[in-house]
Amino acid sequence: DLRHVSRALISVSDKTGLVEFARVLATHGVELVSTGGTRKALAEAGLAVRDVADLTQFPEMMDGRLKTLHPKVHGGLLAIRENPEHEAAMLAHDIRPIDLLVVNLYPFEAALAKGAPFEECVENIDIGGPAMIRAASKNHDDVAVVVDPDDYAALIEELAATNGATRLATRRRFAQKAFARTAAYDAAISNWLAQQIGEASPPLRAFGGRLAEPMRYGENPHQSAGFYLTGEKRPGVATARQIQGKQLSYNNVNDTDAAFECVAEFDPARTAAVVIVKHANPCGVAEGATLVEAYAKALRCDPVSAFGGIVALNRKLDADAAREIVKIFTEVIIAPDADEESIAIIGSKKNLRLLLTGGVPDARAAGLTYRSVSGGFLAQSRDRAVVDEMNLQVVTKRKPTAEELADLKFAFRVVKHVKSNAIVYAKGAATVGIGAGQMSRVDSSRTAAHKAQEAARVAGLTTSLAKGAVVASDAFFPFADGLLAAAEAGVTAVIQPGGSMNDKDVIAAADAQGLAMVFTGVRHFRH
Ligand code: 5GP
Repeated sequence: DLRHVSRALISVSDKTGLVEFARVLATHGVELVSTGGTRKALAEAGLAVRDVADLTQFPEMMDGRLKTLHPKVHGGLLAIRENPEHEAAMLAHDIRPIDLLVVNLYPFEAALAKGAPFEECVENIDIGGPAMIRAASKNHDDVAVVVDPDDYAALIEELAATNGATRLATRRRFAQKAFARTAAYDAAISNWLAQQIGEASPPLRAFGGRLAEPMRYGENPHQSAGFYLTGEKRPGVATARQIQGKQLSYNNVNDTDAAFECVAEFDPARTAAVVIVKHANPCGVAEGATLVEAYAKALRCDPVSAFGGIVALNRKLDADAAREIVKIFTEVIIAPDADEESIAIIGSKKNLRLLLTGGVPDARAAGLTYRSVSGGFLAQSRDRAVVDEMNLQVVTKRKPTAEELADLKFAFRVVKHVKSNAIVYAKGAATVGIGAGQMSRVDSSRTAAHKAQEAARVAGLTTSLAKGAVVASDAFFPFADGLLAAAEAGVTAVIQPGGSMNDKDVIAAADAQGLAMVFTGVRHFRH
């Protein structure tokens, strides 16, 4: 896999380390060919160097826009060595191979950074450089390409070790870096042009996103927005087929994603499940023998908030469930599939969006999630932790009953999808009170208790739905107060990660209340 370097084409804007590097090439007997400025610098340093115009028999022109864009250059970079047809073509047209390409591009980014005027930025868009880099990179089987002065040292070392040749592994590594460089260069140009024409998309491009559809507006009507796809093949709002209803809004997309990702925690082979979401938080989640049963249980948790919500189902939508869902105003339904009858029922609500995903995503599948910050964005691996795979540890004197344990696991599945600080009360595989997004855990606990009380009131019951329920906390209780608030509301069992400095006190408080408590060892923050 060694390729001897006989001829190098050097064309660099950043001339750092150039002369020293070229001198080493010369000692290996490499013939040097260069463009105007580079050739001048090398010649002044006393090196023998050929002008590329001499090779192409075509002068550099149009302010340097045309220097190396010539078949004698590109043929020399692209020709496959030891390919008879390519060899014959080279012979017929007097094209000679180029074994090493050393290019760094017109300093477009630097021109931008110093605030150069529009025309100067345009003139700093390199054309021939990227063309040669891409040609050499494509042909890295035979050609080495260096796009960064920082790599001169590595190449010098390689030439010394191989008596003037390059290794395939090195050429491939350089090719990878070279394509990354031309991609970043073009992205910088495109982002700059996007800014010039007032398109609000530059940071979004950094996500590797492809604009799927411009939206009417963003989170608020005075904000512009677009829906960008990363190309991840995951059943969900980005890949779903919309059967009917208005165009999805920014908030719809965000909420629908939250709902469907939550319902994906429930294996459709084991149970039917329904999630109702408002403002990116679940306001009701339940399992059931059927979707309609699960929907009724989910709705009972917080029927007031469910108005105008998003409904996600983990199984094929059927007529029974559809009939119940259309009884209240709902923004979006998302499900893996829907039968004919249910589609007809949804059809009576013209604005209601129905999205079919073709499947339920795997809650354990790897992937990335993103969020923006000023001047950048954060990426992290998806929270793939699922309670079934956690090492659950009973820390109290009392063990949870089988029924409590089932509800504890249910609640911990849900709490993963509630904004922190998250507290979820659950009973009979249904949420009965959800406390989301509070800055203190005890406030989330009280909010959840309050919601359970309200749900009971709406249902015409006198005792809170929290009575005899279990509670899940997305992170440890730093003090006993949050746990005591839940105990006061009537819960009998607790699931939480554990790991607080105060665990001893919290466990003692649980024991004093006769609660059963389980530690998961896994935290589910979500912000
Ligand atoms: P020099 O300083 O040698 O005159 O020019 C070096 C720069 O020219 C390098 O940044 C290289 O990428 C760029 N370059 C080489 N060939 C061409 C071409 O045909 N067109 C344009 N626009 N730039 C080129």
